[in-house]
Amino acid sequence: MDTQKLLRTLPKVDRLLEREDVAALTAVHPRPLVLDALRDAIDETRDGIRHGHVESVSDDVVVARAAGLLAVAVKRSLHRVINATGIVVHTNLGRSPLAEAAADAVAEVARGYSTLEYDVDSGERGSRHVHVEELLKRLTGAEAAMAVNNNAAAVLLGIAGLARGKEAIVSRGQLVEIGGSFRIPDIMRESGAKMVEVGTTNKTHLRDYENALTADTGLLLKVHSSNYRVVGFTEEVSLPELVHLGAQHGVPVFEDQGSGVLIDLARFGLPGEPTLGSAVAAGADIVSASGDKLLGGPQAGILVGKWHTIEKLKKHPLARAVRLDKMTLAALEVTLRLYLDEKRLLTEVPTLRMLTIPAAELRSRATSFAAAISVACGDACEVQTAPDVSRAGGGALPMADIPTTVVSVVPVHMSVVELERRLRLAEPTIVGRIKDGRLLLDPRTLIPAEEAEITDALKRATREA
Ligand SMILES: *Cc1c(COP(=O)(O)O)cnc(C)c1O
Repeated sequence: MDTQKLLRTLPKVDRLLEREDVAALTAVHPRPLVLDALRDAIDETRDGIRHGHVESVSDDVVVARAAGLLAVAVKRSLHRVINATGIVVHTNLGRSPLAEAAADAVAEVARGYSTLEYDVDSGERGSRHVHVEELLKRLTGAEAAMAVNNNAAAVLLGIAGLARGKEAIVSRGQLVEIGGSFRIPDIMRESGAKMVEVGTTNKTHLRDYENALTADTGLLLKVHSSNYRVVGFTEEVSLPELVHLGAQHGVPVFEDQGSGVLIDLARFGLPGEPTLGSAVAAGADIVSASGDKLLGGPQAGILVGKWHTIEKLKKHPLARAVRLDKMTLAALEVTLRLYLDEKRLLTEVPTLRMLTIPAAELRSRATSFAAAISVACGDACEVQTAPDVSRAGGGALPMADIPTTVVSVVPVHMSVVELERRLRLAEPTIVGRIKDGRLLLDPRTLIPAEEAEITDALKRATREA
C-alpha cells in the first residue's frame, strides 16, 4: 500500500475510545494520561509509516503500544530500590534508610495534625526546634542546637549568620567540592562573606590564619575533608588551635564536619572520625553535619554550638527558607532518640547496623544467599562467594575498605551487562556492582527478605536469553 493510503487507515482517538480494552484503561487510569498515550501511539505509528517501517495499520497494535506507553507514564518515578552494592550511604539511592520507628513517626505526622509548632502545656504557639534541640544538646554537649534542610543549608546559614559582609578565613586545603554542586567557595559567595584563602593545598599553619586576621574578619571556617584525604607532606591546623586563635581575637569558629558522627566508630574497627561532641568540647562556636550520612537519619543539616550563636541563626531570615518540614523532624527526633540506647541504635538504625555487621555474619549470609541463588538459577548462572570490600559511601570514611563477603554471579546465556540491566529494570529495581565480568551482590546493604527478592528476580532474569 502506498504511504498516503496507509496514513488514511490510521485510527482516530475517538474510534479507539469506543473499544472495550481502551475503556478498561480509562476505568483505572487518569483519562488525560490515557488520551496522551493513545495520541503518542498514533503519532509513533504515523512516523513509522512515513519512514517506511510500518506496512500495515492495526488498531490492536496501536492500542497495545498505547498501553505500553501508559504503563510507563503511570509508574511512580520515586520508588524503592534494593541496594546490593555494599555502599551503605549511597547518595544516588537516597543515602540512609530510616529506622522502622523513624519511618512510623513520619507516617503518623504525615497523615494528620501534629505538635509541630504547638506547645501542649500552654496551649500556645511553640517552636519547631524543640523536637530535636534537647536531644542534640544531650548527644553533643552543646549549649544549643537546631536542624535545617541539609548540611549545605546549615553551612550557608552559618556563614551568612556570622560573616555576611565580613571576611571568612579558610584553608586552601579545605576548599572542597562535595557531590558535584556543593563547593565551599560558591557557598561562601552566596552567603555574602568574603572568602580569604590561606595556606596551600597540602599545608596550612596557624601563622597563616594569624597573618590573615584583620578588623574585618568575621569567621574562621574549618571544613572536614570528609570525601578525600590529602596524604604525605601535609599539615592542617587542629580545631583546638583555631578555637584558641579565635578566642584571642574575638572571632567565632565554625567547623563543617559533614558526616554527622555521634558515637566513636573506632570501637567497631572503622576509622575514628571526629564526633560532633568532640568539636563542641574543643570549643567551636558552631558545628554542622548532615542528618543522612553516618548519623543514619533523614536528609537534614544539624547545627550545634554556643547558645548566642545558635539563637542568632534561628532568627536569621534564611532560617525560614531552609527550615525542616514535619516529616523530616519526626524522623530526625526518633533517630536521635535511638542514640540514647546504644543497643537499639546498633540494631535499629540501618546505617549503623550495616556498618557494624561482623565479618563472620556477612560470610555466612553470603554463603546461604549464594546457595539459594544457585538452586533458583540452576545452570543459568555460575555462583560463588568471594571476599571483597564494602564502602561507607556518602563521602564518608573514603579510605575505609570495610571487609565483606560478596556473592558473585556470572550469567551463562547473556552478558553480565544484560543481567545488570534486567535487574535494574525489574520490580523492585535491584542495583549491584559489576567487577571483572561478574555481578557482585553484597549482603551488607541487604536485609534477608531482600535476598529472597533478588533470588526470585535472578531466576526470572536468567531464564530466557
Ligand atoms: C556532605 C557534606 C556537605 C553537604 O551536606 P548535605 O547534607 O549533602 O547538604 C557539606 N560539607 C561536608 C564536609 C560534607 O561532607
